[in-house]
Amino acid sequence: MKYLNRRRLITGTALGLASLAGATFLARRYGGSGSNSLSTSSDYDQPVVPVIDAHCHISQAMHSEFRSTMDRNQVRFSISHGYWKGIDYDVATVSEIRTQYSDRYAAFYAPMWGSTDPHYLKSKEPVTVTDQFLLATLPEELQRFMKAGGASALGLKLWRDIGARVHDEHGQILQLTDPRFAPVLKTAEALGAIVSIHSCGTCQTLRDSLVARYPGIQFVYCHWGSSAGKLAELRKLLNRFPNVVLDTSPASGWPTSKGYRQQEVHDFYVEFQDRLLLGTDFVETERTECCDDLWWSCLYKSFWRYHQTSDLDFQLDDCNLGRWTGVGLSSDILKKIYWSNAYRFFRLDRVMPNLDLASGNDATVERRSSVG
Ligand SMILES: [Zn+2]
Repeated sequence: MKYLNRRRLITGTALGLASLAGATFLARRYGGSGSNSLSTSSDYDQPVVPVIDAHCHISQAMHSEFRSTMDRNQVRFSISHGYWKGIDYDVATVSEIRTQYSDRYAAFYAPMWGSTDPHYLKSKEPVTVTDQFLLATLPEELQRFMKAGGASALGLKLWRDIGARVHDEHGQILQLTDPRFAPVLKTAEALGAIVSIHSCGTCQTLRDSLVARYPGIQFVYCHWGSSAGKLAELRKLLNRFPNVVLDTSPASGWPTSKGYRQQEVHDFYVEFQDRLLLGTDFVETERTECCDDLWWSCLYKSFWRYHQTSDLDFQLDDCNLGRWTGVGLSSDILKKIYWSNAYRFFRLDRVMPNLDLASGNDATVERRSSVG
């Protein structure tokens, strides 16, 4: 999670975005079917197809109102990775998604180890976890979460607090490979739950050891696997672990901001076009900012511009997210990154049937303009 201290902007600006043209028209605009060359288009008002945001943080309080923000920006579905102001993304939250918003949101269970600190995310204070919690409570909570959420419950989130500030009862930092995680991972495997890992800065090797032990679990490595500056290592990992996908949310920057040339990053997308998920990693900081149209539109447009154009070193002033360089993906690859990969990986056919763009059903994807 980042951008938590973004500057506040004037709210309530109506953007009046033009209605989307059809997918075929947009595909022509962004390079045409089958082209893998860098696009030169500077038009990024809309995504070429509706989008699944595979990594964001939507609170229960935002579920209803935020749908219209998603609609205005052609974000059809958002996947929340929990952690909202120090409150577990718990059974009650996922139950509400299942009963009221199953076609717009799904969620991971993100344990906070019993902490009730409302500033948990920003705190560096150690948190202590008991063996009882790890061995019994955690697997039970995951089971309850998955059962309550049905298809809206995707799995378990392991955050970068592990290996950094989560301690056991003896004061030792708990690592991802600690055998006391085995019960919850075995539960995840038995339930078909996905495990999403945002590893701490020094935890990548342990994370990979963990993944090697559980070939039956599907894993998401968040934020380019915390290795946006190490594409060669990521290539090896993706080739070694067929059960891993990367979420490309830029928590610590894009590969282009880590020294890679635009063409190298573009080629990485082409090579792993079936293993990459678009994620924004964005979260609202205050309830009142939920529907700041200007800011949210700028946020999403930054992502469309990054993926759809080859513009160099750009920055959209209305959201001030830093300077990005586009990777100019073809329409075929955009369709996978924006939609099909996440739709397939998270089995979203269970909540949005018959919307698999990869099978040619893009004409059936609903173009939303208002909250239903
Ligand atoms: Zn996040």
